Amino acid sequence: MTSFRNDRTGETINVDATREALLARFGETAKQDNWLWFWLARHFERHAPAAPETRDMIAFLADSFVLAAGMGLECPRIRVFFEGKRYKIYLSRKGTLCFKSGFVEAGTMKPVGDEEYVGCLWGGKFIASRDRTMLPTEGAFMAQLAADPVSFLAKCSRDMDRCCYCWSSLEDKRSKDVGYGPVCAVRWGLPWGVSYNEKVPSFAELWANSHVNDKRNIRMLCEDIRREPRDELTWMALGDALADAGYRNRPSMPKKAIMLPAV
Ligand SMILES: [Zn+2]
Repeated sequence: MTSFRNDRTGETINVDATREALLARFGETAKQDNWLWFWLARHFERHAPAAPETRDMIAFLADSFVLAAGMGLECPRIRVFFEGKRYKIYLSRKGTLCFKSGFVEAGTMKPVGDEEYVGCLWGGKFIASRDRTMLPTEGAFMAQLAADPVSFLAKCSRDMDRCCYCWSSLEDKRSKDVGYGPVCAVRWGLPWGVSYNEKVPSFAELWANSHVNDKRNIRMLCEDIRREPRDELTWMALGDALADAGYRNRPSMPKKAIMLPAV
């Protein structure tokens, strides 16, 4: 049993995990005696059974960007509000998945000040910016994103009544319930309605089950595409795999050589 304290609030958490075990779940963001320990411990305590490895979360986010690019998005990005801050997840020119954050006016979604670079996902890790110290709320954002990217982003979208993928306001009841609209559901392979989900698994579900699928491994195909973005055959294989799973729209190699994640 290890004890972790939030120096700001005084709250303490006891978890059945060593610092090493927590670190293994979250890359190497946390250093000795860093405030982030508390958040890692809280995250571990609340989500331990369901938490995917950080490396998995990074690969999944990257592959979601691959899918969105294959579905025709030239510049896929995610924008959300969380606990009074705004966040942007986007692709850098180097192919890293980057995070920026900024403040919003209290109680509104009105941006205040400039966005600041928080860090990026690369090499299976989160690499925090060297020029600034990550805020506790940013650590909480990363931890929740790592625990379950799709649900967390959907929850943020519902909270702000806007789709985090395209920034449109959520119009009908169905979109408000799930946290995104039908167009983004197709582009990002998100679950869309109960009857649809019975027939067509979400991209996250296909991705998670890739290792047991002995036909075409979605995960490996995406990895191949990230390594060789201009190999049309791999794109076709990915399209086939998704069509087999019931997808009506299939991704294909973007016409322009656009940026893909190389994380
Ligand atoms: Zn949308």
